[in-house]
Amino acid sequence: MACIFCKIIKGEIPSMKLFESDKTFAFLDIQPLSYGHSLIIPKHHGAKLTDIPDDQLHEILPVAKKIAAASGCNDYNILQNNGRLARQVVDHVHFHMIPKPNEKEGLG
Ligand code: 5GP
Ligand code: ZN
Repeated sequence: MACIFCKIIKGEIPSMKLFESDKTFAFLDIQPLSYGHSLIIPKHHGAKLTDIPDDQLHEILPVAKKIAAASGCNDYNILQNNGRLARQVVDHVHFHMIPKPNEKEGLG
């Protein structure tokens, strides 16, 4: 299996892990678009959202909510790209959680 995110889940590639359960893994993006940019992924391998069984997706948004709350940012984007035309680069489903740091704190 050449998938880099499957290797991250197995610990074969290091990552800054934020959350792990039997179905879900979350870690910091290696090239963050803002301070705290993270990725939330199902452990089940599949390239696109339509490749993942529903029961493997139930935790994704609750985990995204927890990470958004922990970021301390009021504003954030949650994005999920499918396919090259949609700018997907890594072919393992992932949800970006991109905090928009509060202006007064000047981060990001
Ligand atoms: P995509 O364009 O496929 O939606 O986004 C893929 C994301 O994965 C990018 O934001 C990229 O920085 C991130 N990424 C790619 N390789 C690695 C890696 O080895 N480790 C981590 N932590 N993030 C990665
Ligand atoms: Zn994978």
